Amino acid sequence: MEVLFLGTGAGVPAKLRNVTSIALKLLEERGSVWLFDCGEATQHQILHTTLKPRRVEKIFITHLHGDHIYGLPGFLASRSFQGGELDVTIYGPKGIQTFVETNLSVSQTYLKYRLHFVEVSEGIVFEDEQFLVEARLLEHGIASYGYRVVEKDRPGVLLVDKLKEAGIEPGPVYKKVKNGESVTLKDGTVVDGKKFTGPDIKGRVVTILGDTRFCGAAKELAEGADLLIHEATFAAGEEGLAYEYFHSTTTQAAQIAKAAYVKKLCLTHISSRYDRDDWKMLEGEAKKVFATTEVAYDFKEIEIPLVKSLSQ
Ligand SMILES: [Zn+2]
Ligand SMILES: [Zn+2]
Repeated sequence: MEVLFLGTGAGVPAKLRNVTSIALKLLEERGSVWLFDCGEATQHQILHTTLKPRRVEKIFITHLHGDHIYGLPGFLASRSFQGGELDVTIYGPKGIQTFVETNLSVSQTYLKYRLHFVEVSEGIVFEDEQFLVEARLLEHGIASYGYRVVEKDRPGVLLVDKLKEAGIEPGPVYKKVKNGESVTLKDGTVVDGKKFTGPDIKGRVVTILGDTRFCGAAKELAEGADLLIHEATFAAGEEGLAYEYFHSTTTQAAQIAKAAYVKKLCLTHISSRYDRDDWKMLEGEAKKVFATTEVAYDFKEIEIPLVKSLSQ
């Protein structure tokens, strides 16, 4: 599980920062990639990475401001042109379906794969046996959502040596044991699967927020997350401006990270008023409040490691 920043700037594209898009790479977990927002030229940014558009399975849109969606029609069209055949599901606020379908129909673009839309409201917007995604409304000029991506806990590793010691030979029975089920062996002995697996593997949590003012929903979505990605359009001391324009400052993002006890904070959606020389300063401001903070830049990658259990 890795996060790859495809665009980290606020509002308009700048030379050093394109507009917002974040890829959550779940290649090992499910062989796919989830995109969060798709600002203009996201597909150009992807060209500089190893990311394959056909791998993109889901696209979560935080809000309908242009710097978060103008890249969507082009990306979807190119994905089809490049041989993408698997369905794509787009999650986003009401209006996202009209935006995409209007673009595709006006330009007479026909996709070789099916598009599904989920117009989100607060609550669980996606769940399968592996992941759960929850959305909450943040505070922005228009409806802007934050997403909490929760990887479910998994059964621990199979303790093969222990199984062999107990005289249980490899076979279909191992699958049941791995799931922690009770299994009846050929000789009639009943074996408790849980005794032959390591501790559960704790799932990871990544919280990716749309544009927002400093708000309580951000903290709730971030609670205990392994990684929080929070906008920081403005520097510390600009809280007045941030409030007026429905954005946050570095310090405010750090306060959310601290209050929510996250493991790591990454700041993005950085205004072009701050150039390269200022980025360390922005990071420093946040670090005063929350030490494990990084400022994102285009193509930055963050790995989200599994927490190793000490008892294994
Ligand atoms: Zn924005
Ligand atoms: Zn916005």
